[in-house]
Amino acid sequence: MQDTAHTEFVLDAALDAEIARATDALRESRHVVALTGAGLSVESGIPPFRGPGGLWTQYGEPPMDGYQRFLADPAAAWREQLNPTAPWAVGLAETLAAAKPNAGHAALAELERRGACAAVITQNIDDLQRQAGSQVLLEIHGNAHWLRCSGCNQRFDRDELEVDPERLPPHCPSCEGIVKGDTVQFGEPIPPDVLDGCFAQVALADCMLVVGTSTTVYPAAGFPLEVLHRGGCAIEINPEETEFSRLATHSLRGPAGAVLTRILDHVAGAEATR
Ligand code: NAD
Repeated sequence: MQDTAHTEFVLDAALDAEIARATDALRESRHVVALTGAGLSVESGIPPFRGPGGLWTQYGEPPMDGYQRFLADPAAAWREQLNPTAPWAVGLAETLAAAKPNAGHAALAELERRGACAAVITQNIDDLQRQAGSQVLLEIHGNAHWLRCSGCNQRFDRDELEVDPERLPPHCPSCEGIVKGDTVQFGEPIPPDVLDGCFAQVALADCMLVVGTSTTVYPAAGFPLEVLHRGGCAIEINPEETEFSRLATHSLRGPAGAVLTRILDHVAGAEATR
């Protein structure tokens, strides 16, 4: 697999100057929201779907009817999840379980602690932003560590609800509804509690940090467009050019760990000289 971890990345003077300008814009904003994607977790060893080193770049796109297949035969969908056969899914569960938050996750949590970022909307399912300490966190595509009742939306830690491979699918202890993984599958509606939270944060935002996302999956991809449309700013952090790059107010072409750490340095430096 191509190395996308960018561990040796060195910020050049031009990028560093653009990061300083972007940080000024961020500090002048009232309500900053981060929208993060798979690229944020690449430096934790989790491959993205698209782009260099992406699972789909290597194996091709999987079928887009995952939720329909779950509804048609929940037991079969559970069996496939417990023993995946799709090449892109084999090994992903182990990779997710072993991954640790990286400097980018830590910087976002610290920006929130300092009042420089109000909330994180993440498309990631890996739990790393939570483990790094983000408090106001909206996991718009769910969390691979959790299960969710498709009837009452109650969530369970995977360790909390025993799944018997001989009696699939599992049922909700509260309402008897069918339990599925919390991860939102292709074709599945986003749980309304999370979606409402995202809309509320986007409505307040006058600045959005767009980190490690190809901005191709809606509705998340529409959030920075909405902020721009209202006259706010959008700061993209991605080592590759994306469809969003030409629209972004600042396009910071570098890996999330190094760039977010530098933004945090600038925020901390400005606080120290106040
Ligand atoms: P994506 O795979 O479509 O795009 C990833 C983006 O990250 C690309 O634009 C790539 O250039 C960029 N990138 C690569 N390395 C980076 C780095 N070091 N720093 C910053 N950016 C980097 O991902 P997406 O836009 O999040 O959307 C696709 C879906 O993928 C989401 O729904 C998400 O649930 C799912 N996904 C999640 C994970 C995870 O939880 N870690 C992993 C793979 C896919």
